[in-house]
Amino acid sequence: MTQRLVVVGGDAAGMSAASQARRLQPAERLEIIAFERSSWVSYSACGEPYYVAGLVEPIERLVARTPERFAADDIAVRTRHEVMAIDLDRRVVQVTDLDGGNSAEYGFDLLMIATGATAERPQIDGRHLPEVQELRTLDDALRLRTLAEQRQGRVTVVGGGYIGLETAEAFKHQGWEVHVVTSGRSVLEKTLDTDMGDSVVKAMEHIGIEVTTETRVTCIAGDGRVEAVGVGDDLAPTDLVVLGLGSRPEVDLARDAGVPLGETGAIAVDDRQRTTIDGVYSAGDCAEALHRVTGRPCNLHLGTIANKAGRVAGFTIGGGDKRFPGVLGTAITKICGIEVASTGLRPAEALEAGFDPVVGDAEGTTTAGYWPGASPLKIRAVSDRSSGRLLGAQIVGGSGGAKRIDVFATAIWNGMTAEELAWTDLAYAPPFSGVWDLIHIAARRAAS
Ligand code: FAD
Repeated sequence: MTQRLVVVGGDAAGMSAASQARRLQPAERLEIIAFERSSWVSYSACGEPYYVAGLVEPIERLVARTPERFAADDIAVRTRHEVMAIDLDRRVVQVTDLDGGNSAEYGFDLLMIATGATAERPQIDGRHLPEVQELRTLDDALRLRTLAEQRQGRVTVVGGGYIGLETAEAFKHQGWEVHVVTSGRSVLEKTLDTDMGDSVVKAMEHIGIEVTTETRVTCIAGDGRVEAVGVGDDLAPTDLVVLGLGSRPEVDLARDAGVPLGETGAIAVDDRQRTTIDGVYSAGDCAEALHRVTGRPCNLHLGTIANKAGRVAGFTIGGGDKRFPGVLGTAITKICGIEVASTGLRPAEALEAGFDPVVGDAEGTTTAGYWPGASPLKIRAVSDRSSGRLLGAQIVGGSGGAKRIDVFATAIWNGMTAEELAWTDLAYAPPFSGVWDLIHIAARRAAS
């Protein structure tokens, strides 16, 4: 008997699940149909800021696989089709064709919910004006790139998260005046401690981006188009507002259908990406994942997680046997020449999770100090006082510095102590590090 899998959301998690399920089940056994409300599937949101900056061309290069390519694997993809409702009793989804306007019901035996996340919108006046934009889908990226190239003006980025900062840099690259306003004490507050974030602020200011911290955007003013933003008590002229306030899991569809959410507000799943509803699966930004350090569910919006968890869902759907082993939230970016990375818990998060954190800082250079081009690098390692176990790390510095985070991620993943990492046999030559890498030094200082 042929079963039908319906996938809601055609990006990282949804299409990873569809592709993996297809590898395990031929079309005669499993029909797969994916609905995506934007014009694109299987795209790299991560590359969008670089497209807005004009560094990547054309936008199609950000698409990993087209609907035609999926069709060749007997996976039917319907772009510009939005799933409006899920009826779990009748096992049907109600789908609207956003171009034709028609609605239709599609039955399913198996359902993969991969609706991702949605950008946070501030509840302030003027938020619906046309020049208030966010950056999530490729359609958003096209719109922002057009705006960036139409003319040069002044853009206000609201929020200091990494998507906002990458977009700020993109507009600077396009010749705009850029102002970042965040209510946080510094930028990248979900990734870095304040002092580490301040190094990023310095790098941004160095290339002429204005950064205002500990200040809220209170309103967006304009008559039909954006003219100014309220920054604290002032009204600052602006031509465009980019929202970089973070994102929340897009779970309305699932919740309204009766699919249980977990303590984080995202869809609760087990380690095979099963919800508690028989035959209904979820993964990616809309779903929870187990945090390997806290042992608690978390909801982190990272492509790394969405791809892997989606693949595990595909194994489960296709009858395979894989378990998703959890996450550390390892993340990396580059802002205005400064590399930034983090993994595991920051000291404050460790405290909140019930650990007694020990912090080890190491400052030096990306290569041997005498090597031409050596640039500053700072690493912070965090461990637990009683067990010595590594809990997290943060890195801020010059070229070649941040990928060191993968060493920490691997060590934390495997439950190593700071003391063990401090003696690990890491590679050395002057173009790459000092003979004691800053990884060793930070770990040694975090060893209790
Ligand atoms: P999404 O990619 O959000 O896909 C969900 C899809 O579902 C969307 O295409 C949406 O249109 C569709 N959808 C939602 N509801 C419906 C519905 N009812 N009917 C039909 N379709 C629907 N992560 C990293 O690890 N590294 C990075 O450098 C990085 N950079 C990023 C830069 C930007 C600008 C953005 C926006 C994200 C970045 N991320 C990065 C995060 C990463 O892109 C996401 O974690 C990942 O895309 C999540 O995949 P997903 O499939 O869960 O959700």
